Amino acid sequence: MKIAVLKETAAGEKRVAATPETVKKFIGLGASVGVEAGAGQGANIPDAAFEAAGASIADRAGTLADAGIVLGVQGPEPAGLPQGASVIAALNPHQTRERVAAYAAAGVTAFAMEFMPRITRAQSMDILSSQSNLNGYKAVIDAAEAYGRAFPMMMTAAGTVSAARVFVMGVGVAGLQAIATAKRLGAVVSATDVRLATKEQIMSLGGKPIFIEDEETKAAETAGGYAKEMSDAYKAKQAALVSETIAKQDIVITTALIPGRPAPRLVTAAQVATMKPGSVIVDLAVEAGGNVEGSVPGEVVVTDGGITIIGHRNYASRLATDASNLYARNLFTFVSTFWDKEGKAPKWDAEDEIIKAVKLTEGGAVVHGGLA
Ligand code: NAD
Repeated sequence: MKIAVLKETAAGEKRVAATPETVKKFIGLGASVGVEAGAGQGANIPDAAFEAAGASIADRAGTLADAGIVLGVQGPEPAGLPQGASVIAALNPHQTRERVAAYAAAGVTAFAMEFMPRITRAQSMDILSSQSNLNGYKAVIDAAEAYGRAFPMMMTAAGTVSAARVFVMGVGVAGLQAIATAKRLGAVVSATDVRLATKEQIMSLGGKPIFIEDEETKAAETAGGYAKEMSDAYKAKQAALVSETIAKQDIVITTALIPGRPAPRLVTAAQVATMKPGSVIVDLAVEAGGNVEGSVPGEVVVTDGGITIIGHRNYASRLATDASNLYARNLFTFVSTFWDKEGKAPKWDAEDEIIKAVKLTEGGAVVHGGLA
């Protein structure tokens, strides 16, 4: 079975879906690997490194020829995909339904890796976790860079520099790493979420939890561990708490997402305006509609009041080498979990809960319950 690794075509996408390490492991399973020329460039992996690991290098058509599996970071263009191949990538299915239909029409079996269930067995295949963790780290680093002041408290002969105050909104994988990174840099950190389970996690990282605790927050977490959309009454209480908190902060990192829904609006322009000049906000949810009023996808906005709102797209691509290493391992674990050693090809067990969750198309049709 040949595995094809394509060069990403989306603007600004620097990651790559395989690395020399995973190429070697695929070959160890009995597969052959073709890599499109230049695929690793954005992640600082030269073609020669893929070749040294045992891959063959070709153009797109040559890479796709006879491939049984096609690996991507973002979903590849359907044109030219070999019929019957399995496509494994972050397919962003809710936003790209036409392309999903085109995969079905092209006769490929498409797997959306972001639909991976949050179960223990799938943890090492979970691209959302591996990439969000880096997003949370990089958001704090970007904020520190844009903030014209120091993060840690410093007591010097010339006087004391006070510690930066960082507020993290949304304490999932990205938020936890943002708290940890800000603490390591010496900031005074507080954080909030709708899921009460995060309270202890915030404290264990040395952060101060800022919470609304009512009947609704006791049930704010779905069985899958995600947040629900909250009521208007809750949103009003949350807005009051944010107003009280945000004016005292130097840095705000927002990460709040609700699966399949637009990101919740957590900070209004009026609340932003209460922050001190020089303060920095990073809106990691900007591509899902934004947690912060005034954040713009792909832009760094400075308000009239001197507050910087960072809205970079595709945060993980800003750490392309590490992001690729982790992402590539997630894909390898997925493929190897379903690999049939004798047939030297994957057997996608239709009854397995992982396959049920991630398989979008098969046999010419869209088969995923959430999309069909
Ligand atoms: P996410 O990216 O979906 O959302 C980020 C955070 O925003 C979440 O903590 C969410 O509760 C919070 N949020 C949503 N609406 C909010 C609002 N109005 N105000 C404040 N915060 C709000 O989250 P995620 O990082 O994907 O994590 C989701 C869940 O999955 C968590 O319970 C996490 O622990 C769990 N998880 C499990 C595994 C595993 O077991 N394999 C792996 C990773 C994550």
